[in-house]
Amino acid sequence: MKIVLASRNAKKIEEVKRILSEFSELSQISVFSLDDVGIYGEIEEDGATFEENALIKARVGAINGCIGLADDSGLEVDALGGAPGIYSARYAGEAGGHASDERNNEFLLENLKDVPQDRRTARYVAAIACVFPDGREFTVRGTAEGVIIDDYRGNGGFGYDPIFYFPEFNKTFAELSPEEKNSVSHRGKAMRLFANELKKYLEI
Ligand code: IMP
Repeated sequence: MKIVLASRNAKKIEEVKRILSEFSELSQISVFSLDDVGIYGEIEEDGATFEENALIKARVGAINGCIGLADDSGLEVDALGGAPGIYSARYAGEAGGHASDERNNEFLLENLKDVPQDRRTARYVAAIACVFPDGREFTVRGTAEGVIIDDYRGNGGFGYDPIFYFPEFNKTFAELSPEEKNSVSHRGKAMRLFANELKKYLEI
């Protein structure tokens, strides 16, 4: 069985392979990227939720008997009514375009400058969508709860990780090793939920 992961991000593809390899029952599944199966071009993510965007992408991969898989993720800050949410990658971008991690982080801290630390609660959200060649679909969601801090800590991870403080470990996500992050992250949790759900769908 082939899974086509609707992403061009080599790190994500490796991550999916690594998590699936934790499940021996899924060892017959191989993971391919869109490029691997000859699907090129941008996919327009115009959904209103993480799940809708993940489904839009996953449907593109569900062709020629393959299972389509995609994720969509972002950061929700409570004091900002859930922003940046599905716009996390382009939060500080001009005309809806992507912005650098540095600019996004600066913009977020600027918008939170009058918000005291105890009201800086936030969560990372990852939705994963899976679409089968017969048209069946499901989504799962993983979250990780934290607090946005003003100082940048750590060099690991990406995006908002240096200012996303994770109280459980008394560290920011950028201070965690990839294994530690994966064990508690929104994406790690969603991937494990996905793998369990996939087993049910495949009846294995
Ligand atoms: P995408 O789902 O890969 O498009 O990611 C959306 C955006 O959400 C990223 O560009 C980051 O800004 C943010 N984001 C999602 N997951 C993470 C994470 O694990 N760490 C830091 N930022 C994240």
